[in-house]
Amino acid sequence: MILIVDDKPENIFSLKTILELHSFPTDTALSGEEALKKILRQSYALIILDVQMPGMDGFEVAEAISGYSKARDIPIIFLSAVNTDKKFITKGYSSGGMDYITKPIDPDILLLKVKTFYRLYEQNRELNRIQASLRSEIEFRKKVEGELQERAGELHSILESIPQIAFTTRADGKIEFVNEKWLKYAPSKNAFPLTHPDDINLAKQWEKTVASGQALELEVRVRRIDHEEYRFHLLRAIPIREGDTITKWVGTFTDIEDQKQAVRKKDEFISIASHELKTPLTTIKAYVQLLDRQIEDEDPNKLYVERALVQVNKLDDLIVDLLDLSRIESGKLKFNKKLFRFDTMLSNAIDMIRQTYPDYTLIRKGEADIELYGDEMRIEQVIINYLTNAVKYSPDNKEIHIEAYTTSDDRLFVRVRDFGIGIRKDHQSNIFSKFYRVEESANRFQGLGIGLYICAEIIRRHEGEYGVESEPGEGAVFYFSVPMTDGPLLRPAQAVG
Ligand code: ADP
Repeated sequence: MILIVDDKPENIFSLKTILELHSFPTDTALSGEEALKKILRQSYALIILDVQMPGMDGFEVAEAISGYSKARDIPIIFLSAVNTDKKFITKGYSSGGMDYITKPIDPDILLLKVKTFYRLYEQNRELNRIQASLRSEIEFRKKVEGELQERAGELHSILESIPQIAFTTRADGKIEFVNEKWLKYAPSKNAFPLTHPDDINLAKQWEKTVASGQALELEVRVRRIDHEEYRFHLLRAIPIREGDTITKWVGTFTDIEDQKQAVRKKDEFISIASHELKTPLTTIKAYVQLLDRQIEDEDPNKLYVERALVQVNKLDDLIVDLLDLSRIESGKLKFNKKLFRFDTMLSNAIDMIRQTYPDYTLIRKGEADIELYGDEMRIEQVIINYLTNAVKYSPDNKEIHIEAYTTSDDRLFVRVRDFGIGIRKDHQSNIFSKFYRVEESANRFQGLGIGLYICAEIIRRHEGEYGVESEPGEGAVFYFSVPMTDGPLLRPAQAVG
């Protein structure tokens, strides 16, 4: 809006007409005082100010405007009847724009000047807008930065208070913060703790981890700078993300030496105990078998001997599992791989289960008349384990399906399906772990929770895959698949003769 200030209404009228004809919105004031009041209330793009007015003249008005912070930048065009001395015009006024026009007014010149000032005003306004938004952006950033620093401060105090060795790094992996404990294990703030010469190189591993963007979990032996003894620590580091971008990493080393020692002692105990138990048990088993064969069927004691034999066999199975477990732990589980008739082995295993559990119905499905390269006894052990579990965990539904088939990509699949108690989804990923038993059913069914762990190891050592599909109350399907490797050794059954 343009403010026209003149004491003569006819002058105001003619100026207003010219400007409005060219679409400039206008406002008017008949005296300097009125003009000042209006300027205080409203903002204008330009003021056209008559110099000679009764009361306050134009220069005085301009001087007064220069004192208003809100209005001091409004450009002014003075209207003067005579050739005005320029030094008057500049006096006391330092706006961004100022000009004068002599009367009588030439409309073309007036419009030219108004347009120039108007454009200037709009540019100014735009600049101010940009400036304001930049200012608020800067303020916002400052606030965020402040908050971030506060959060980093909190994180550092937390990392200082925990018993672990702790650190944070930038997104590119460069160490940013380490707690006090770090300096007891690392030669400097920028170097990783001292690791055992046989363990992984942490600096190199760290580069890989940062490049992958994946969390790291690693057991590594580290030692205090002032100690000789290395202790096992669990290094865990996770990337902190904002949206999709990693902004930093936070990591800790937790001392797990005591747990490791306890596990080692337990493993040693299991190994010694199972070896020590195995020898007398083998003798007992041999005597009970002998007794069983010697006692006539009609003898009333036969029943007791048979029952004793069943229990001795159970005990033997448990000890065999425990021995296998300690062999796995010590890396001594040996495999004797060669070609064998898979189908024959499977039929034998099924027959054995049928004899042991005569009230169960085993239904065989699929075709797998192949020769398989692998450890026959160990693969049979997996199948028997799946089948005995199917029997054990299906006390009310006595039908079990066993399916074996081969696929076009040369894999052998074996699936054992039961219609028993089933397994909840949240347990399914754990049941192949050592000693894991589903708590709800652990009291109802005896076991050590190592059968599936051994199966998993056997399948892994055949480069195979394993798993379970199940819904609680609807039974379970345990499966494994192994590659039919050593292509040239693999022949269809007919060709073997
Ligand atoms: P164990 O049977 O001696 O406990 P396993 O390692 O063979 O040990 O099995 C681990 C756990 O998995 C079992 O305790 C049981 O909870 C669950 N499980 C295994 N097989 C089945 C099955 N067929 N149906 C339901 N649960 C099963």
